[in-house]
Amino acid sequence: MANPSEIFGANVFDDRLMQERLPKETYRALQRTREEGRSLDPAVAGVVANAMKDWALEKGATHYTHWFQPMTGVTAEKHDSFIAPRKDGTVLLEFSGKELVRGETDASSFPSGGIRSTFEARGYTAWDPTSYAFIKEGVLCIPTAYCSYGGQALDKKTPLLRSMQALNKQALRILRLFGNDDVVRVYATVGAEQEYFLVDKDMYKKRPDLVVTGRTLFGAKPPKGQELDDHFFGVIKPRVQAYMKDLNEELWKLGILAKTEHNEAAPAQHEMAPIFSTVNIAADHNQLTMDVMKRVADRHNLVCLLHEKPFAGVNGSGKHNNYALSTNTGLNLLEPGDTPQQNAQFLLFLAAIIASVDDYQDLLRVVVAHAGNDHRLGANEAPPAIMSIFLGDELNAIIESVVNSSKYETHAPDQMRLGVHILPKFPKDSTDRNRTSPFAFTGNKFEFRSLGSNQSISGPNVVLNTIIADTLMHMADELEAASDFTSAADALIRRTLREHMRIIFNGNGYDQSWREEAARRGLLNLPTTVDALPYYIHQKNLDLFERQKVFTAQEVHSRYEVKLEKYVKVIDIEALSMVDMARQLILPAALRYSKDVAKEAEAKLKLGFDAGLKLERSLLGTLDEQMTKLYEGTFALEKAVEDTRSIEDMLEKAKFTRDRILPVMEEIRKAGDILETVVGKEYWPMPTYQELLMSV
Ligand code: ADP
Ligand code: MG
Repeated sequence: MANPSEIFGANVFDDRLMQERLPKETYRALQRTREEGRSLDPAVAGVVANAMKDWALEKGATHYTHWFQPMTGVTAEKHDSFIAPRKDGTVLLEFSGKELVRGETDASSFPSGGIRSTFEARGYTAWDPTSYAFIKEGVLCIPTAYCSYGGQALDKKTPLLRSMQALNKQALRILRLFGNDDVVRVYATVGAEQEYFLVDKDMYKKRPDLVVTGRTLFGAKPPKGQELDDHFFGVIKPRVQAYMKDLNEELWKLGILAKTEHNEAAPAQHEMAPIFSTVNIAADHNQLTMDVMKRVADRHNLVCLLHEKPFAGVNGSGKHNNYALSTNTGLNLLEPGDTPQQNAQFLLFLAAIIASVDDYQDLLRVVVAHAGNDHRLGANEAPPAIMSIFLGDELNAIIESVVNSSKYETHAPDQMRLGVHILPKFPKDSTDRNRTSPFAFTGNKFEFRSLGSNQSISGPNVVLNTIIADTLMHMADELEAASDFTSAADALIRRTLREHMRIIFNGNGYDQSWREEAARRGLLNLPTTVDALPYYIHQKNLDLFERQKVFTAQEVHSRYEVKLEKYVKVIDIEALSMVDMARQLILPAALRYSKDVAKEAEAKLKLGFDAGLKLERSLLGTLDEQMTKLYEGTFALEKAVEDTRSIEDMLEKAKFTRDRILPVMEEIRKAGDILETVVGKEYWPMPTYQELLMSV
């Protein structure tokens, strides 16, 4: 086992290296950009580029790339070598400040949602000095933002950086009001817990659905699926252990703080949690983590499945976005703290987040809406599609006493009472675990649990930063104008909490009764991606993004289009894969089996052994019935896909996809899964759920 402290950050051009290799002046200038968000002096870039190149060459890298995050949700890179020709025919190795700072790329292969007209096919990448450069597979990777010639964001990093600026600005205003003059920067911190499945590669290859779509389109439930929980929980198998060890080392080398690893609820499901960092770094690191997870799996003859729902009837995979607000002085603004003054500040930030989540339930739902995630949210799985906040008993009691201006009674005798100015000591770690809540307070941070395992965490954090910035802005406007800050703050906290109590729900989110209760409270319930996406472009949301300078209306529209299109494409591909599997694998297998059953019946007849051939008739009847459903279903599905393609309007297309394609797929699957349980095992053309889930 490599010593983590020796390998940690080995492939990262990090702070230690910069300090070592950059002239003091350069280092300081860069530091000011990184920590205080100041813009970078171009002269500095040349020096940094040269130092990066020297280091990269020492590490054996020959190429560099602007590593960016287009709207596909996966990362992109285009490699350039460091080689530059000399007059004498030899080459020299070069990397200029200009090459570090700006890159040009052919943007036509990335989605733009109509932003980039065809004559302007170029996109530009711009260095993000707040995220460290790193070496991956012999290539120096420069984290960059990606935009069009006109400066419109075409990626997931640009809006995240913009939203960080918005949040910083407004949070600082609030902190000043509370007398915190030493703080110069506030940022969101995020720890993204990543769930995944591991399956054996040889088995995986025999499943075209997994290979093409990342999820199984057929597969009868194993006799004991999820119930095997206890059996699997706790014990990490040797092959998985070896994978995790390798994964950790690779992540550490990239400076990723991989911390905990454990088995998850479902068999073959696991989780990796990093130590939290600034949201921008957390987003880059999560993209890298997903990438490394897949590559390391390959080395172990495994496949890492990041799809939100690889197996029907088995727990899906999510990503828990742990979110808090931190100052550059190291203070967590969501830490309840012990002094009344801090508590008032804490309560104000808490109230701001509660109000933001309530006011923008729709946006929080939009940013986790994907075809894959629809199998979790809105289905009978955690968390539900309805946004709500879980606070836990203790904090809930405190909030209620603030709202009702009543005494706060705790079970602990040594707690202070809650007056308006005399706020209580908050008992630490008093939050209970609630696995069903989409947005839970967990001691000193919120955990947004609705994210799909496969998605970039940028979108959700852009929205969190933006909606919180906006609420803080309104609060700061009000408080700055008040003559008596303390009483104005108290009144504002109380009023805000009172107005937004409906979003707080501490019960079981799976219950049907919650759906009814949520409807009574007027909370949104948007079970599918198609229900959610139109909210993206509602005027109130366009206004929000423009007010906070995070997106122009045009940029939001483009994202809306990209998301709709992706939804349609994903299901289109699934549908056609299903047709192929049904006709080319399942049907032939079922026919072979039928033939053998028929032969057997014939043999019996020859032996004069008739007795009505009850078994054979019944079996053949079932086979025939399901094969017919399956076969006819494939034509209905092809027709539905064809019909969808002819629809022009993207939203209509998406609706049609959901309402006409998905139900046919479900019918076909039913027939296929019945066949799987009837057809003899040695006839079945692909590994079953049981085999896949037990394969490692
Ligand atoms: P759990 O008990 O759910 O495992 P942990 O305390 O281990 O909770 O944290 C889970 C995740 O939350 C980790 O990724 C951790 O780094 C992250 N986390 C902890 N504190 C913060 C914070 N202040 N801001 C953002 N994420 C945090
Ligand atoms: Mg968690």
